[in-house]
Amino acid sequence: MKLSDVSRKIEPSFTRQLFNIAAKYKDVIDFTLGDPDFITPEHIREAGCSAINAGKTRYSANAGLIELRRAISESIQKENGVIYDPESEIIVTVGAMQALYLSLLCMIDKGDEVIIPAPYWINYKHMVEMCGGVPVILEASEENNFILQAEEIENAITDKTCAVIINSPNNPTGVIYNYDAVKKICNIAVKNDIAVFWDECYKSIVYDDNKVTSVLEFENMKDHAVIINSFSKKFSMTGWRIGYAAAPEKLVSAMTKLQENMVACAALPSQYAAICALEENDSAEKLRDMFKHRRDVLIDGISKIDGISCKPSEGTFYALVNIKKTGLSSVDFAYRLIEEKHVAVVPGITYGKCLDGYVRIAYTIDEDKIREGIRRIADFVKGL
Ligand code: PLP
Repeated sequence: MKLSDVSRKIEPSFTRQLFNIAAKYKDVIDFTLGDPDFITPEHIREAGCSAINAGKTRYSANAGLIELRRAISESIQKENGVIYDPESEIIVTVGAMQALYLSLLCMIDKGDEVIIPAPYWINYKHMVEMCGGVPVILEASEENNFILQAEEIENAITDKTCAVIINSPNNPTGVIYNYDAVKKICNIAVKNDIAVFWDECYKSIVYDDNKVTSVLEFENMKDHAVIINSFSKKFSMTGWRIGYAAAPEKLVSAMTKLQENMVACAALPSQYAAICALEENDSAEKLRDMFKHRRDVLIDGISKIDGISCKPSEGTFYALVNIKKTGLSSVDFAYRLIEEKHVAVVPGITYGKCLDGYVRIAYTIDEDKIREGIRRIADFVKGL
């Protein structure tokens, strides 16, 4: 049986490779996956179960239930003051991943370029390749807090560039693109008529006094933005596979057309659960507070280990641990740590060359495990 070039070209990420190795050990502390251990809040689970028991077990419209699209539109308006027409400018998808893939598929022609600032979520690169596009990776520097300078984006634009993908708060750095950075990127997008894929999946997980700036705060951006969001991280609903895109009518209409041929629609019980999730904000705030506590436990523990360091993340549930003083590459550090101490972390190089002096820790596991993981990392670093 023949396999396509693209399926042969794309390798499983280090995140998955480390996760798979971790699964071999019974006593493993697994810091690899962005999959919170918190169960979905009860009232949301009940809404999903009630939908199933009431027989809501069929297909919905390709773009998703209109009630859910209305609720999404209201939440965007509340947060950004921008109105998206639920009938034509919002599509419900199988997680944010499918929102990204479908929107890229509707924009990219073979050879089109998409700018991806590194550190980046590896799936962006693979998705662009799966669509026949060319990912143009631009490495941000540590001095700029891993935020790519807008001028570098502008300099990389060619007549093949159709979009740039920005994720803020960022996986893996935990950094938030500040107001000036977002403003400059928006100006460049409008001036050069390219789209900004604005992935705000971690928008609800922001700590301390940090503020998230949205592209929608800037003039003319509704015409240039593809807003990507998810219920996965905000409501601990990764397994429900539910997300959405908000974008100009032209793009959403194309996405809805392709959706019919891809998955028909997102799972209907998940759509009912998502409507319930959007009815209040308390559960998202509680989840954020629990992540903040874990972040503080982690930072405190790592700061006591000689030879490695870690700054508190501004948002998300990821922390970057600086391992430069150990002299190991991020891959060697991660592989030795799992083999010698049964602690799984992701090598920074997964997210771009600029992160080879780092490993990523996801604090999506409970506090006791975090403390045990820190103890083993301390032992490991001491023994180097
Ligand atoms: N965007 C980023 C930056 C992510 O880290 C993830 C998941 O890890 C997603 C999108 C996908 O989320 P979903 O579960 O909604 O597909």
